[in-house]
Amino acid sequence: MQQQVVVAQGQAPFPNGPGVIVARSAIVALSIASVINLHELTHLVVGRLAGIPALFTGLTSAGVAEGTAALYPQSSLALMNASAPLLTVVAGFAIYRALACWPEAFGRARYFFTWWAIFGIPYLGLQMMLVVTKVDYSGNGSDSAAVAAYFHVPMSVRAVLCVAGFLWYMVSAVWVFGVIRATDANVRTAPAATDVSLPRRVLGGVLVLAAIACVVTVARRSILGTSPGPYMGGAFLGWALAAAVLTPWCSPVARAVWTHWLLPGVIGMLALVPLGFIGAGNDYASIWLPMIPPLVATAMFATRNVTWLPAVARMAR
Ligand SMILES: [Zn+2]
Repeated sequence: MQQQVVVAQGQAPFPNGPGVIVARSAIVALSIASVINLHELTHLVVGRLAGIPALFTGLTSAGVAEGTAALYPQSSLALMNASAPLLTVVAGFAIYRALACWPEAFGRARYFFTWWAIFGIPYLGLQMMLVVTKVDYSGNGSDSAAVAAYFHVPMSVRAVLCVAGFLWYMVSAVWVFGVIRATDANVRTAPAATDVSLPRRVLGGVLVLAAIACVVTVARRSILGTSPGPYMGGAFLGWALAAAVLTPWCSPVARAVWTHWLLPGVIGMLALVPLGFIGAGNDYASIWLPMIPPLVATAMFATRNVTWLPAVARMAR
């Protein structure tokens, strides 16, 4: 049963109910699909401006046909690969900044654009993790790997970037909490915390260490030249489980994050999964895996009295 969360005096409530959750889920799906398409279009347009006949090689990939990259200058290929992730991350932080500076930013489109920030801010860490993966100029998502290859970055340095990227990915939920707090009066005004029991804290800590161990394994394997195997996914899953165990879900602020953000996020991204099986497969099938953990971690940070952190505090109204 949905529970009405506490709303501060004079602030409009964020309505609950199945119809609202379905509508929000649809906005999530549209927002995520639009930011992915904008990313791919950037690859395509910048690639063409750099003299590469870039094209959509799939529903969520743009670049050059496999095996043809050697025909084009390395610098143009690097530019094509660098431009889109840069845009995704800059858009995420620009929206964070806009929400910090202008209380009414984006008006009625606010929920839609907040999801660009929820996507773009942790995406910086995701691209840093992907720097150890195989270079593929057809647009497989490992854009940073192509840029690192152009600059001849040694694999040992890339391995360090991969682990650092995961650490950013984990803490980026603080900034995600900031944007959600700026947009949602319920999250902003709900009382913060009731803590979790000691056994849950221990289990959560073990899961955090397991997630970090997974990403260290990815880094080690990249230096050895072997496949990352399931460890990249294991890192995301471990962090999501850790944050879920460490969140007191009965607290009003965790319920507000769940009802207005996490639940529509899960439904919206699962609604995109069938599109992931069009053609040879694409990111829609798996985008939920790196997208969901920062939202679970947002609920965790929201219950932890972190509103004194500048990343959160400047989003207060
Ligand atoms: Zn890309």
